[in-house]
Amino acid sequence: MTTHQTLIVGAGPFGLGLAAYLNRRGHDYCLVGKPLEFWEKHMPAGMLLRSNANWYLDPDHQWTIERFFAEQHPNHRASQPIAREHYIEYMRWMMQQSGIPVLNHYVSHLAHQEPGFRAQLDNGQTIQARNVVLATGFQYFAHSPNYLTDKIPAGRYAHTCDAVRMEVYRNRRVLLIGGRQSAFESAALLREGGAAHVHLSYRHDTPAFAEADWSWVEKIVAHLATHPGWFGELPAAEQADYRYRLWAEGRLKVEPWLKGRVTQPDVILHPRTELVSATLQPDGALRTTLTNGEVLVVDDILLATGYQVDITRLPFLSLSLLQMVRVEQGFPLLDLNFQSSLPGLYFNSLAAGHSFGPFFGFTVGVRTAASLIGRALCETQQTHEPG
Ligand SMILES: Cc1cc2nc3c(=O)[nH]c(=O)nc-3n(C[C@H](O)[C@H](O)[C@H](O)COP(=O)(O)OP(=O)(O)OC[C@H]3O[C@@H](n4cnc5c(N)ncnc54)[C@H](O)[C@@H]3O)c2cc1C
Repeated sequence: MTTHQTLIVGAGPFGLGLAAYLNRRGHDYCLVGKPLEFWEKHMPAGMLLRSNANWYLDPDHQWTIERFFAEQHPNHRASQPIAREHYIEYMRWMMQQSGIPVLNHYVSHLAHQEPGFRAQLDNGQTIQARNVVLATGFQYFAHSPNYLTDKIPAGRYAHTCDAVRMEVYRNRRVLLIGGRQSAFESAALLREGGAAHVHLSYRHDTPAFAEADWSWVEKIVAHLATHPGWFGELPAAEQADYRYRLWAEGRLKVEPWLKGRVTQPDVILHPRTELVSATLQPDGALRTTLTNGEVLVVDDILLATGYQVDITRLPFLSLSLLQMVRVEQGFPLLDLNFQSSLPGLYFNSLAAGHSFGPFFGFTVGVRTAASLIGRALCETQQTHEPG
């Protein structure tokens, strides 16, 4: 068994940003998780980021994306979208430059045990820590709505986070349900990967192909670093306005670089439609019907239906620990340091969205979260250290 002041669970952008902060300040922490796992295993190869180089991870501004490109890929133009592959390389480079050590394992069980927490890893190791920061990101929150899955034969659909190897769909007919950036990007990549054809069905009008403007989000997130209570103190209607504005920025627009890639005869758009039924044919194909009466025969159905936070879906949390965390609409309620109602237990990233605003579902929130959580953790270490 090893003992640490702080255990960070999750080695994605949020876990790494916090580790960089703590590392520099000599805080006693341990980072457990599979580095960049979500980006490598649940985002499609060839994907381009919507975010830009301003969204780097190092809260002390040393290991920036701009510096990474200048040193590693000097021919990269700042105006180009950043490829997923470059971003993964950037995160590896940043880990190496900052000397962040990672235990490449999973926490299989986390329980509250005075004066802190006890984590069991999948290799049998046990870690005792006074504080735990959960930064397990998106993977447990993939959302496949029942109103869709109830209509599709078992085993014949996948969420887009599990449909990232496009070669699997070569020569296959695919129906994608969802009509936002991720659905359109998956359609482009499926087509380029050799799918026979791709249908997109979505309930709304076709979104505009226009560049999203995140500059206002960057300002808000920077402001939160010094005024962490700002979002939580807004009247509910104003919070809702901000949620809508971010949603609209991300969801009512699809990046312009996708336009030519999906405006193709073998990518067929079905706006203002929903799935009515999907039945298995004797030849193994799926006969699907949409609300406008169209019948599409396909081999696969992919759900680009996003993510929904519900912390009871984190499979490694003990029941008694969960019962000590105050929750609203699936989100933990957090104080100004991202600490839950269970002292010493912090939630980072997407799960912080209820208390700090929806901005933390994107890496734009990494540095602000790292400095707020990091500062609080460093203060608790000073408080608990003898002498
Ligand atoms: C299709 C798509 C496109 C996106 N595009 C962008 C974009 O352009 N720009 C942007 O900023 N954001 C984008 N995002 C959002 C981005 O993916 C998230 O903001 C980011 O990955 C969240 O980082 P994270 O550190 O919270 O967790 P993740 O990246 O989800 O990583 C989770 C970490 O937790 C670890 N973990 C999980 N379970 C355990 C366990 N039991 N024990 C230990 N470790 C565990 C994993 O191994 C991993 O290391 C996109 C998301 C999707 C789905």
